[in-house]
Formats: sequence, structure tokens, C-alpha cells
Amino acid sequence: MAKVLESFLDENLNSLRVQGLYNEIDVVEGANGPTIQINGKDLINLSSNNYLGLATNNLLKQAAKNAIDKYGVGAGAVRTINGTLDLHIALEEKLAEFKGTEAAISYQSGFNCNMAAISAVMDKDDAILSDQLNHASIIDGCRLSKAKIIAYNHSDMDDLREKAKAAKESGLYKKMMVITDGVFSMDGDIAKLPEIVQIAKQFDLITYVDNAHGSGVTGTGKGTVKQFGLEKEIDFQIGTLSKAVGVVGGYVAGKKKLIDWLKVRSRPFLFSTAVTPGDVAAITKAIEIMERSSELVDQLWENGRYLKEGLKKLGFNIGASETPITPCIIGDEKLTQLFSNRLIQEGVYAKGIVFPTVPKGTGRIRNMPTAAHTREMLDKAVGIYKKVGEELGVI
Ligand SMILES: *Cc1c(COP(=O)(O)O)cnc(C)c1O
Repeated sequence: MAKVLESFLDENLNSLRVQGLYNEIDVVEGANGPTIQINGKDLINLSSNNYLGLATNNLLKQAAKNAIDKYGVGAGAVRTINGTLDLHIALEEKLAEFKGTEAAISYQSGFNCNMAAISAVMDKDDAILSDQLNHASIIDGCRLSKAKIIAYNHSDMDDLREKAKAAKESGLYKKMMVITDGVFSMDGDIAKLPEIVQIAKQFDLITYVDNAHGSGVTGTGKGTVKQFGLEKEIDFQIGTLSKAVGVVGGYVAGKKKLIDWLKVRSRPFLFSTAVTPGDVAAITKAIEIMERSSELVDQLWENGRYLKEGLKKLGFNIGASETPITPCIIGDEKLTQLFSNRLIQEGVYAKGIVFPTVPKGTGRIRNMPTAAHTREMLDKAVGIYKKVGEELGVI
């Protein structure tokens, strides 16, 4: 190893370990379902993004197996050479239909989508107005484009309007975009899309909504844009196929000419191998299940409501979530980590999230209920919260 690399790694790894910031990764022994096994111990799982329980759904598993039998395990090439299977086209048609747009394009992940789509249209002569709490992949995607990034205060529409106005009047930029998460993952709040669309119209902004935590959750599963009836107003509807959809991948849905452009200009589509046939078949099955019935989405929301009510009754601060995401705000960073460790020891796998992921003093346990949790599991989890909350003097 180069000396310079060795000293870089030693110094930085040590510094993280000394500060207690080195993340030891827990290993799950088996499926990521409503309960999981870690170190031989069964735990109620309140940390996955598998909102609808589809990651372990039998219909999805069967669809993947059938596709593997017919197509094999790999797509064999990037999409633009000969990695585009009829399965990919069928999925993209289904996604467009589901999202109510003219067309859709799929990618290898939601993260990849943001690497692909932003820099396919924005460049150094442009500006991007970005919500301060946007996901890391949005931030990186914006940086990659080399456009000027103008952050606005979280969901602060006056700040967005002022900054859009100033940017427009400066005459410095050829194109301007506003970009936001649809559902913010740390607090579970929803972007103010109707106002964002209004501001976008006023200042001629391209609109880009990454609905990773809304896909399969809000708008009876069709996402936050659908919830507000803004399918025709939002230029880029980004989603993930890795969270509620239960598999892996991402997509952009929008006008046909936008999708045509992404097919010739977005680099992860051009230079990274296509999603595997098994995954594509499982994703397509998941969308079919969501189209056919809202049963899983309804169950998810009911479980979210039930968990929130249980924690609130005990006296926990559960923030102002508008989605099943249920933060339990502890405050102090050290206490939050201790709380999470005690929950895990008692049988609930729920992780602490602290500064810098959330503001200082707002450390929290983030609970992700899913459609697959039973009442018994949620009751047991709330009981453990009561025990740990009293023990640590939080309630
Ligand atoms: C999780 C998430 C992603 C990444 O999606 P993957 O499919 O897991 O890569 C992108 N954007 C947002 C807003 C997310 O929450």
C-alpha cells in the first residue's frame, strides 16, 4: 500500500473510532422481513425501507425465478448495446402507466438515477435550487452537473421564491431547476409541491421531484406527485424500486422527449450494465400487485398510525411526520445512541440517527413500520419502548 494512503487511512479511521463515529455494520442472517435475525437473536425490525413487505413476497420470488429460468441471471450488456431485454421495455411501459406519464426509463438504483438525470440536462451555465434537506444522491447529482447549487431552507417557500427571483434577475443562468425530495426521510414530512409548481411557473424552473420514500407509500402507492394531481406539471418524477417496491433499481417518469434524451445522454444508462432479468421481473410483479389493490398500502398506513399512537400515548415526541415514517425524537446524541442500543438488546431493531444527518440536539430513533408487521409485533415494540423510555428517563 502506498505510504500516503496508509497514513491517510490510519489517521482517519482512528479519528472516527476515537470519536465513537465508526459505524460497525450489523449483519442480518436471513431475509429482511418484519423480524430479522442478528447475532442469532430475533428482533422486531423497524429499520427497513421494505414498506410493503414486498422484498420477501412469494409472487415476486416466483416471478424472479421464472425470469432467471428463461433469461439467465445477467442482462449481459449495457442497455444501449444489447442489454435491453423485452422485460425492461415491459417494465418501463408499466411504470409510465402507473405514474400517469408518457414514458419512463429505469436505472440500476435510485442513487444512479440522480447521477444520471440531473447532469443530462443541467450544466455549468445553469442553476439548481435545492432543498437544504435533500438526499445525498440529489446533492451528488447536482454537483456532478457543475451547475450553480443554490440551497433553500427546508420547505421554506418564501426562501425558494426569493432565491429563484434573485437567480432569474441576475441573468447569470441559461436554465434553472428546482429539486426536492417528495417525502423527507428523516422527519417523514412531504414537500409542498403545489407551491413549488407555482413558483416554478413564475420563474420558468424545471421541476424535479425524487420520490424515493413516497413511491409505493403516498398517493395510494403512486407517489407524492400523484397525491397532489401534479403528474402533468412535474418534469422529472424520480423514484426508487429498492424501497416500497422491494427489489432494486430506480426510474425517471416524464414526457416522452425527456425520456428519449435520457436514453442517449444519461451516463449510467450508457455505461453501466442493465438491471438483471430476475430483478426486472420481480419489480414488474410488484407494480402489478400495487395496481391491482391498495391493500398493502392501506395496511402500511394503518400500521404507521397504530405505532405513532402507541408511542405518543407513552409521551414520546414523534415529530410531525405526514407518512408512516415514525421518528421518536430523543434529543441528545449520546442518549439517542444509548436508547437505540437498549432497544436492540431488548428486541427492537431501530437505529439512532444523529448529527450531522439531522440537526444537533434532535437525535432520534427512526422507526419504519411496514405492511408486514402484525399488531402483536407493534404492541411488543411499544412495550419495549416503554421499558427503555422509563429506564433512561425519556418518558
Ligand atoms: C433512498 C433514496 C435514494 C436511493 O435509492 P436506491 O434505490 O436505494 O439507490 C435516492 N433518493 C432518495 C430521496 C432516497 O431516499
